[in-house]
Formats: sequence, structure tokens, C-alpha cells
Amino acid sequence: MAKAQRPHIAILPSPGMGHLIPLVELAKRLVHQHTFVIPTDGSPSKALKSTLDSLPTFIDSVFLPPVDLSDLPPDSKIETRISLMVSRSLSSLHDAFVSMVAGTKLVGLVVDMFGTDAFDVAYEFNIPSYIYFPSTAMMLLFFLYLQELDRTVSCEYKDMVEPVRLPRSVKGIMVNGFQDLESGPKALQAKQSGKPSVYPVGPLINVDSSDKPDPSGCIRWLDIQPVGSVLFVSFGSGDTLSRNQVNELAMGLEMSEQRFLWVIRTPNDTIANATYFNVDTQKDDDPFMFLPKGFVERTKGCGLMVGSWAAQTRVLNHGSTDGFLTHCGWNSVESVVNGIPLIAWALYAEQKMNALMLSEDAKVSLRPKPNQNGLICRDEIAKVVKCLMGSEEGKSVRNRMLELKEAAKRVLCENGSSTIAVSEVADSINMHCYLQIRNLLS
Ligand code: UDP
Repeated sequence: MAKAQRPHIAILPSPGMGHLIPLVELAKRLVHQHTFVIPTDGSPSKALKSTLDSLPTFIDSVFLPPVDLSDLPPDSKIETRISLMVSRSLSSLHDAFVSMVAGTKLVGLVVDMFGTDAFDVAYEFNIPSYIYFPSTAMMLLFFLYLQELDRTVSCEYKDMVEPVRLPRSVKGIMVNGFQDLESGPKALQAKQSGKPSVYPVGPLINVDSSDKPDPSGCIRWLDIQPVGSVLFVSFGSGDTLSRNQVNELAMGLEMSEQRFLWVIRTPNDTIANATYFNVDTQKDDDPFMFLPKGFVERTKGCGLMVGSWAAQTRVLNHGSTDGFLTHCGWNSVESVVNGIPLIAWALYAEQKMNALMLSEDAKVSLRPKPNQNGLICRDEIAKVVKCLMGSEEGKSVRNRMLELKEAAKRVLCENGSSTIAVSEVADSINMHCYLQIRNLLS
């Protein structure tokens, strides 16, 4: 079928690799043509461009003209910046829709949770909207319950003028989870009239990335390490530690005497997500200047540090990797599909909820304890790393993760629950399209 005639879905990811990457995986599973319509406030990062360059042919991408955020105070929250980037892009999104409907059969819009302002544009074109929720079902439940909390709890919510409202015009919400990983999806799937359907479609992970380049050299390094010996240390696409914390982490890794591969960023003492929008703002040699004296030489052979970015899915899929110290961004749940156990080190946003769920509920991670100043000290780090990589407790976390790996395989197979959920979304989009055509003909 010619590309232009295939039913076509517009996908609007809000800025940030943690939102783009799983939406790409979702697009690969929906049997439609797709166009990623991407809001920006400047030139896109290398990581973003390289993800878009590697898209299959049935997925296009287009950048909306950059919006101006210079009127915002420098300390404005990242969530504010993301939401404004989307809302200030609406007129260009409208123009992009005009071009898309001229050349293709546009049948749906998918946004993530910061993109709901775009529903107005979809509504104008009579196109159904769906939300892809890039976090846990637990977080979604929490959001859905906010109105009730607002009614019943008087503490932090007391200053709000309007209650938090979930947009009602949405047809469905896709969440990156599955039942064995967290119990939330079941509670959300109960159908209620007037409420959007919730589809657990996870884990949305790119498992086949073996042909990608390895500019940081970490795969070559992993190739020469013993099987099942390396702890991968990474804080997502934009998270940064304080100087003190970088120092303690380095010393803790050294004291653990375990092999490690660490994606390291220049520390930031005030902001935990300093490089969220564009990890390229880091200079390659910057982060290494902040490591303890002699650390690089002392750990040569058993440790590798790479600046800013590593091919995470390939690292987690590598036979030498056997543990993952993660900031608990929800996409880092991808270690589930590789059966790699975790050390849960949450930094900001909903990461603390994720860490708690992964440790207490799913029991696939260990959690280092911060001291009274919030610092995780070297002794604690060394203890928890040794525990994960070589103790009975570590073994039990590992075994539980292997069970989840099998469960993830089951939900993603042909008749698995996540595959069925994605087909249900596709059916719902097709049904809307069919009804539209029938109305036009009658
Ligand atoms: N990622 C990567 N290399 C890196 C850091 C991150 O490939 O060095 C990818 C990772 O695989 C994941 C995404 O970026 O898909 C980060 O999403 P997550 O939800 O874990 O964290 P966020 O960056 O949104 O806080």
C-alpha cells in the first residue's frame, strides 16, 4: 500500500528522551504510518537526532519551529517549561495537521501527559486523542485520585483555586506497565462510563539495537569483561548529582571492588535534572575533572567512565552486565526485559515512588540509605553494590528479576496482554475512522 494512503497517526512527544524513546517503541507496534511532531525551544540534542535518524521507514518526524521561553524566570520548573513548549507550539501543530491531512488519512493523535493541550487541535480536525503515560500505573492512579485528595485532604492542596482535572476528551490512556510488574494496571482497567479506557502496553523497550554505533566505546569494553560481572551506573537522560555525591559515588564504587561502567555527568549542586533538555550541553571532558584524585588510574581495568550518554539498551542486553544502579526513571525499567537486578537511587519527579515500588513491592532492587543530609555515603554505596553483586540477598533480588523477565516475555508475545492492549488501541482508532467515513456517506 502506498505510504500516503495508510492510516496515519500523529505523535507529539514532549521534550526529553525519556518520553520520545518509549513513544517510538509504541509507534513500531501500532500498525499505522506515524509522524512524530516535535516541539523544541532550540536545536535538538545529538541523542534525539540519532533516535529519529534510526526510525523505520513507516515513521516520519518533523520539528515544529522553536518556541521562545526567554520570558520565563531562570529557576522555572522543568514541568512548566515542557508544558509551555507544547502550548506555545499549538499554532504550528495546527499548520502541521493541515499539511498532514492534505497528504494522508490522519486518524489519531497520541501525546504524553504534558501534551494534552494539543487535544484542542485534534478536536478541531475531529481526530481521536490518546495519552501515552510514560510512568507507572501507580503514578497514573495517583494523578487520577488527585481530585478526591483535593476534596478530602487539606494540607498541600489547600491553596489550589481549581481542582486538578483530568482531560475528559481523551479516548484512551496507554501506560508503560504490566500486571506482574505492578498491580496498578488491574485497578485502572475497570471500565467506568465517562472515563477513558486504560491500556497497559508495557514494557515498551527497544531490545534490538545491536547494529547501532558505539561512540563511547562501552560495548567494546564490555566485550572484554567476564560474563555477568559489571554494574552499570546511569542516571537517565538528564539527571545530575552534586559534587559531593559524585565524590562519594566514585569512592563507594572503588571500595566495592566490583567492575562498573558509569555514565558520568558534570555535577550540579542545585538542580537534579540539569541536562534534561539537552545532554550535549556537557563538554566531554568536564565530568572527569570532578572525580577524586587518582580515581581513574586506580580503577583502570575494573571500571570505565563514559561522558554523558551510553547505548543503555545495548549495555543492559550485554552478557557482561549483571546489575544496574539506576535513578529509577520509568524507562529504565527496561532492565526487566534483560533480567538485570537494580540498585534504586531516585533523584526527582516520581522516581522515589518508582524506587519504593521496585524495592518493596516488586522486590527487584536494593535501596541505598541516604544520611540525614540526603547524601548517600561511600560505605553505604560499597555495601549495597557488594550486596547486589555477590550476596544471598542479591541473589534473591536477581531471581525475582528473572521471574519478571519471563513475565515481560509473556505479555509481549503474540497473545500476551500488552500485545492485545496495543491491538485494542489500534482497533479503537480504526473504529473511529470507520464511523467518520460512514457518517460522511450517510
Ligand atoms: N538513555 C540512554 N543512554 C543514557 C541515558 C539514558 O540510552 O546514557 C535512555 C534510556 O535507555 C531510557 C531513556 O534514555 O530509554 C531515559 O528514560 P528514563 O525514564 O529512564 O529516565 P529520564 O531520562 O526520563 O529521567
